[in-house]
Amino acid sequence: MGLIVQKFGGSSVANAERVMNVAKIVTDTYREGNDVVVVVSAQGDTTDDLIEKAYEITEKPSKREMDMLLTSGEQISISLLAMAIEKLGCHAVSLLGWQAGFNTTSAYGIARIKSVKADRIRAEIDRHNIVVVAGFQGLNKYDDLTTLGRGGSDTSAVAIAAAMHADRCQIFTDVEGVYTADPRKVPAARKLKEITYDEMLELATLGAQVLNNRSVEMAKKYNVKLEVLSSLKRVPGTIVKEVAKMEKMLIRGVTKDTDVARISVTKISNTPGIAFKLFSVLAKHKINVDIILQSVGRDNTKDITFTVSKGNAEEAVSCIADAFDISEEDIICDTNVAKVSVVGAGMESHPGTASKMFEALYEHDINIDMISTSEIKISVLIDIDVADKAVSAIHKAFFPEE
Ligand code: ADP
Ligand code: ASP
Ligand code: MG
Repeated sequence: MGLIVQKFGGSSVANAERVMNVAKIVTDTYREGNDVVVVVSAQGDTTDDLIEKAYEITEKPSKREMDMLLTSGEQISISLLAMAIEKLGCHAVSLLGWQAGFNTTSAYGIARIKSVKADRIRAEIDRHNIVVVAGFQGLNKYDDLTTLGRGGSDTSAVAIAAAMHADRCQIFTDVEGVYTADPRKVPAARKLKEITYDEMLELATLGAQVLNNRSVEMAKKYNVKLEVLSSLKRVPGTIVKEVAKMEKMLIRGVTKDTDVARISVTKISNTPGIAFKLFSVLAKHKINVDIILQSVGRDNTKDITFTVSKGNAEEAVSCIADAFDISEEDIICDTNVAKVSVVGAGMESHPGTASKMFEALYEHDINIDMISTSEIKISVLIDIDVADKAVSAIHKAFFPEE
């Protein structure tokens, strides 16, 4: 008995049959004596389809209008789910993000949640309603609709759970939990019973799309007990929490991130202050840099190579060309790269992790472009065409198939 927040992703509400299936899960939870707040995403590929519609009109849609358009996807699913719940004999009310009290920063398309004033949700619960809230959206200080970035409904759910001190936040999706690799790409991937917030945050940031990384960040901050589970099969999923049982695993997972571009600035002056100048120009343009590599200086010149997200690549090249007064042709930008990583708190005390990962790549003749490490992850930058092969090879090395 308690308050449970349940979130269902796009594939879980893709059609009428799936919406009825979700309504059954939600009403079962309610009938067990719980108060239930449900957060839903847009049905199936609706968000992608809406983006496509915008680009049929213009190459440069206004960010404000884009958010006005994209928030409509979730409006469809909340109303349909509320109808489905009523059909199963419970009372339900659907609320858009602003009705549910979501205040966000002003940046359209990438807004952050500032607060959730949950009074309306609470009032509806007191009226014995199951409350169905549109994920991925809020209202900014100009009273305009905003969206939270792709995959943002996970964060909406965690934000409600945090604001209302819910007993649990369940993220229902199309796989049975968090696996040691994407189970759709690596059939031998294993389901994890438990994982820590830190490890999950790393996995999510490095490409495991099963949870949005901001949702994990928020769950850690407010100590929200998260559970990832299937909307189609009623089996235990994965619990995300502060301390997890280690199950003697050296690493927790292998991930792939294809939203990467590698930029090389060659033959720049080998004098102090160059790296400072380069990265402060990027910072001024609010461009995040990930892996950085600087060559040893030779003949008074050196090369600096770094990675940014694909969406920032063009702007990064042009602002560096301007700042260093060089031609854009002297800056090499490669978008056919991917970052493959291994993640796990266990690797800190095991010096062999990197060599095991590199051996797996060598055995498959995969060349490493760049490497970066932290206490709980090792990432390599490789050719995008061999990224799936690399994930499988590395996974096999760490999780031998019985
Ligand atoms: P939803 O629409 O429910 O939000 P997503 O498509 O955003 O679902 O996330 C679920 C998908 O994440 C799965 O279908 C799976 O292919 C992918 N995925 C990637 N890495 C992992 C992983 N390590 N564990 C589980 N799923 C993963
Ligand atoms: N519908 C949004 C998207 O496709 C939000 C979400 O699914 O979490 O990104
Ligand atoms: Mg998602």
